[in-house]
Amino acid sequence: MPTVRTIQGDIAPDELGPCDAHEHLFLVTPAQPGDEYSDVSKAVEEAETLRSAGAQSVVDWTPIGLGRDLEGLLAVSEATGLRIVAATGLHRDAHYAADDPLRAESEDALADRFAADLERCGIIKVGASYHTIKAFEGKAFAAAAAAHDRVGAPIGVHLEHGTMGLRIVERFRQLGVPSERVILAHVDRNPDPGEHAETAAAGAWLQLDGPGRTKYWPDSTILGLIAELAERGHGGRLLLGGDTGRRSMLRAYGGGPGMDYLFARFKPRLERELGRELSDQIFVANPARALAF
Ligand SMILES: [Zn+2]
Repeated sequence: MPTVRTIQGDIAPDELGPCDAHEHLFLVTPAQPGDEYSDVSKAVEEAETLRSAGAQSVVDWTPIGLGRDLEGLLAVSEATGLRIVAATGLHRDAHYAADDPLRAESEDALADRFAADLERCGIIKVGASYHTIKAFEGKAFAAAAAAHDRVGAPIGVHLEHGTMGLRIVERFRQLGVPSERVILAHVDRNPDPGEHAETAAAGAWLQLDGPGRTKYWPDSTILGLIAELAERGHGGRLLLGGDTGRRSMLRAYGGGPGMDYLFARFKPRLERELGRELSDQIFVANPARALAF
């Protein structure tokens, strides 16, 4: 039987419930100086708002070396009742210092590390750069494919500005990973429904995770993308996340819009404008399929 691996243990996919498919409860990276955060009690505070807004589960995309705190995630899960899927894997090149020892690890060593982590983690993260895959990223891709082959967990990919989606699906296919085991994050940073439809047709999961980034685009842009993708028959390939991956986006640290924005504000609007059925598909049915292995 396929299961979803949470930090508190394996569950049946239909126990996942409404899911925020992309958050960071903790994140410490040289790429975001001054915007890091690692406090467990503040993570509980934010997660509690997300739980109160109706989420029952969340996928934490903070990978190895960036302040990931598996014990902290367990504490947040126990304190709030949120089911948390943790990530192994690596982020894109820019998040690691030039002398970070992870850079020197071989592909095989990384694969072993990822596979061992998958005792507790439920997703393998990798990242790509803007319109390119750097050498360190390519090594992580190959290690992720090897760990996927051994354990079966899905692979989540950070796209920089929404680029490279199709190329990445093809790269993983060459590495033996089926498209439907690949989740592409941040596709909405390039709000182009034609591009998205081609990528969905290739079989990959499309994750839109930019609600509340009002200085870049209004939420109506994302609702428009969802409407058009559903219209083209790709509603069964969509995931939604909040990705409040900066201290300045979290109310517990005095910022905003807060981790609950996706569920408190965006989801009700999606239901009013596009219907409850599509919302249930994107927030409940799709995550259960995407995360099960
Ligand atoms: Zn993220």
